[in-house]
Amino acid sequence: MKLLEDRIRKDGIVKEGGVLRVDSFLNHQIDIDLYCEMGKEFYRLFKDSDVTKILTIEASGIGIACITAQYFHVPVVFAKKSKTSNLANDVYSSVVHSFTHGNDSTIVVSKNYIRPGERILVIDDFLANGCAVLGLKDIIEQGGATLVGAGIAVEKSFQNGSDMLKEQGIRVESLARVRSMDPDDGIEFD
Ligand code: 5GP
Repeated sequence: MKLLEDRIRKDGIVKEGGVLRVDSFLNHQIDIDLYCEMGKEFYRLFKDSDVTKILTIEASGIGIACITAQYFHVPVVFAKKSKTSNLANDVYSSVVHSFTHGNDSTIVVSKNYIRPGERILVIDDFLANGCAVLGLKDIIEQGGATLVGAGIAVEKSFQNGSDMLKEQGIRVESLARVRSMDPDDGIEFD
């Protein structure tokens, strides 16, 4: 998606360790017009997949998921990163390794919100090694639902997440695919 690539070129900041910062328009301050265009594109890509629900992970995926859901007219559920007391024990859970923080965290979703027969689209802001999507897939399968695919805003294709997910038969659609990035040499897209 050229609009997103152009914005990443203009405002993205490449950090050491393979981290791209997009805080000024995607996941801290949010450009809503850009989000709307991304939501429309996810709808174009997955409109024939009979999506009944969108699942994402807190925090950065929530905004993109909500805007996307406006085009599908389906609910959004977000996995929480810690067990809150009001969710108690009635949850599906999975352990996810965080690429940006370098630690493991348990994500949970209430059993009320993942049901057998549902067709679930996963939406997230970044795809690096694929741990977040795999954790969400695990939760979807625990609930007897079907993962129809993963819609990703920014895929870093120099990391192995996309290949690993596709080898598992998961449909991955990324709006921008960063092939390489360097603090001095800039960003290249596929
Ligand atoms: P994965 O689970 O695929 O290894 O990493 C995806 C998750 O890590 C995303 O939910 C995102 O929050 C975070 N992430 C991975 N790489 C980056 C990055 O380069 N920049 C930012 N801002 N977040 C990232």
